[in-house]
Amino acid sequence: MSNSVRAVTVRDCSIGGPEIVVMAGPCAIESREQIFHAAEVVAAAGARFLRGGAFKVRTSPTAFQGLGWDGWKLLREAADAFSLLTVSEILSEEQIEGARRYVDFAQIGSRNMQNIPLLKALGRARMPVILKRGFGCTIDEWIHAAEYILHEGNPDVVMCERGIRTFETATRFTLDVAAVPIAKKRLGLPVVVDPSHAAGSREWVESLTLAGIACGGDGLLVETHPEPAKALSDGPQAVELAEFPALMEKCRRVALAMGRTLPASSHLAAAAC
Ligand code: PEP
Ligand code: MN
Repeated sequence: MSNSVRAVTVRDCSIGGPEIVVMAGPCAIESREQIFHAAEVVAAAGARFLRGGAFKVRTSPTAFQGLGWDGWKLLREAADAFSLLTVSEILSEEQIEGARRYVDFAQIGSRNMQNIPLLKALGRARMPVILKRGFGCTIDEWIHAAEYILHEGNPDVVMCERGIRTFETATRFTLDVAAVPIAKKRLGLPVVVDPSHAAGSREWVESLTLAGIACGGDGLLVETHPEPAKALSDGPQAVELAEFPALMEKCRRVALAMGRTLPASSHLAAAAC
């Protein structure tokens, strides 16, 4: 299937080309052991990016807020050890310069999608940006948010559909699959899907992950944890690390059906990315 978007390159990885780019890891970096374990498993399963939040935007101020800069150092070390790139949320303009050493792909979280000073600052910073959709925002508003980054001269924007708030309560949010082809067509930029925050429960993550490829997503952002029951954030929606390779195998089959590729067990052998 032809993909009519302009690919965005993050270091040596092209998003929006033939390959479904997988970004996976825990919601939050919690310890050296946890993030290294995650890195080893997701790299072997074909992921290209290690995800993990160091500065967490939690609904409650008493919930775990992340390890901060120490977390980013661990993320970098773990990713480097397994030839992965890093994706992590940046919360403020002040963090951008310091983040460059640790974060290859700057995530703007759902709650910050309309933080205009942050959008403009990342536009000026010329760092590749993954822009999550605000869970209360329309596709139009999401596209305008992307334009704030683009208008500052940064062309490297990838959109991320992560579910929106609807009247439905059986899932944490509602994955808006139609937003994927619509945003791709209207912006001409790659769109990736985050099935984890949409599902809210690991029981539905596999279905939404596969739907994310089938609806034309150019990549996936999936939360996975060695011991979800002990996770300090978003444990209920984390796929167990031990189950992650099987999920990737199913993704590979759907990717193939969509005329896309997903690197085999070790991405080091893949030439496409
Ligand atoms: C996350 O990726 O862990 C996260 C906080 O996502 P969102 O901004 O989509 O809620
Ligand atoms: Mn999370």
